[in-house]
Amino acid sequence: MTTLRRPLKSLGQNFLVDGNIIAKIIRTAEPDPEDSILEIGPGRGALSDLLVQNARRLTLVEFDHALAAALKERYAGNDLVTVIDGDILELDLAEVLGKEQSAWKVVANLPYNISTPILFRLLEMRGLFSRLVLMLQREVGERLVASPDCADYGVTTLLLGLWFDIRREFIVPPTCFHPRPKVDSAVLSFVPLHRPRVEVGDEAVFRKVVKGAFAMRRKTLSNCLKATELASVEDLREILQQCGIDGKRRGETLSMEEFASLSRSLSKFSSTAEF
Ligand code: SAM
Repeated sequence: MTTLRRPLKSLGQNFLVDGNIIAKIIRTAEPDPEDSILEIGPGRGALSDLLVQNARRLTLVEFDHALAAALKERYAGNDLVTVIDGDILELDLAEVLGKEQSAWKVVANLPYNISTPILFRLLEMRGLFSRLVLMLQREVGERLVASPDCADYGVTTLLLGLWFDIRREFIVPPTCFHPRPKVDSAVLSFVPLHRPRVEVGDEAVFRKVVKGAFAMRRKTLSNCLKATELASVEDLREILQQCGIDGKRRGETLSMEEFASLSRSLSKFSSTAEF
């Protein structure tokens, strides 16, 4: 049997040790005997041990070689479980998961140091998934469900919110982990939408408008958009006017529909541009 070594901070290893919270995450994921489930960062298997009891297929992706080896040993002989010793950010998910006919559920207590790149990777591959239940640093979770005009509202709110219904399920205190993180965590559920929440024209333009609007939070929307070089100063002025948006506002005050309206108009100027 493999012996446990100290958790690695560099891999965001804060293992769940609270049975009630583990059970609550599993209840939120609603595993079903028909489900194919992907768990990112299974660690010592706190969630995997329960997921395996109620899934048709469980694929575990663990970057820590020693933990992946221990999981392979633990589930040896169980045909339902596949352990991948790899990096979720590098893995070809379409290749690994795409062979299944049905969509995958994703369950994870994410490594907090790379949770944002993982979220964007999952966003990119959203067509593979039916539902995601993810534990994140509370602050990152708050950003995903924030409303305009509040400090948490920003790029991740808009880019993820365009393609997912996101719900904050519950907060998890540091005492539920070993070692204890310095901050609270939050469990959120994500359901991918078949169509974007609002029509944005060219999605690359939408991303550029949103990122540009939040790149300099203290500057006006006009100045932020100028810096994106998506259109000339004169065209920008006209577009803002057509969209009924005052260029003196700050990006954080715009609703998703207002960003979408800007993006639709700007898409006409940048249809061939690469971002
Ligand atoms: N699921 C376990 C639990 O809840 O106790 C462990 C969660 S721990 C917060 C994050 C896990 O992600 C660790 O096991 C860590 O080794 C793993 N990990 C870190 N970076 C990763 C990556 N790029 N790809 C896959 N797993 C990763």
